[in-house]
Amino acid sequence: MSSKKRLVGVVALGEVPEIALKVITAHISGYFNLSVQILPPLEHPEYALDEKRFQYNAGIILKAFESERFTDYDKVIGVLKLDLFIPIFTHVFGEAKQGGKFALVSMFRLGKNPDGSPSPSSIIYERAAKVALHELGHLFNLLHCREKKCLMHFSGGIQDLDETPIYLCRYCSTFLKDCLLRQPDNEKPLKQPDKIPLNLLSSEERFRQ
Ligand SMILES: [Zn+2]
Ligand SMILES: [Zn+2]
Repeated sequence: MSSKKRLVGVVALGEVPEIALKVITAHISGYFNLSVQILPPLEHPEYALDEKRFQYNAGIILKAFESERFTDYDKVIGVLKLDLFIPIFTHVFGEAKQGGKFALVSMFRLGKNPDGSPSPSSIIYERAAKVALHELGHLFNLLHCREKKCLMHFSGGIQDLDETPIYLCRYCSTFLKDCLLRQPDNEKPLKQPDKIPLNLLSSEERFRQ
């Protein structure tokens, strides 16, 4: 059985620097060896604004993605500069449904170093690419990894994110390769022993202020 190379779409929601999209797509192509395309931007997701929090509800945006025409793509990553949240957490860097099709990456909180000083653009884009690859890992059914030197390690904040490498540990890398060899129709969660239970993983990159 031959396996078709998966196609990933990267789409801006509202205004996002084109260079950020290019860095993200280059990393997806380079590190995960997937085909990837930048899609025409979608509108600013005003519909997801929570007026009390002045933040955007990640779940509502992901839900809205389901009605968009992304039929040619196996996975789609939305990138935005807005502050994302899910109801029980202060904010999230990214959001993805385990084994799903859609993920989000927010650049809103990637612009400052742990000490509060502004970060150079190159670091900001690298962080965005790291969050995108991590979320894409979730879309391919990877769970959080206990290995600190692994892209799938849970990041609680910017410092964690900066300390997390952009590459997968051997275990997660093998798991991903196995997943990518399967036909998309047969994509079922594989058993990953010795991992954090699934029910704790509906979201990530969250931290309380
Ligand atoms: Zn790992
Ligand atoms: Zn995660």
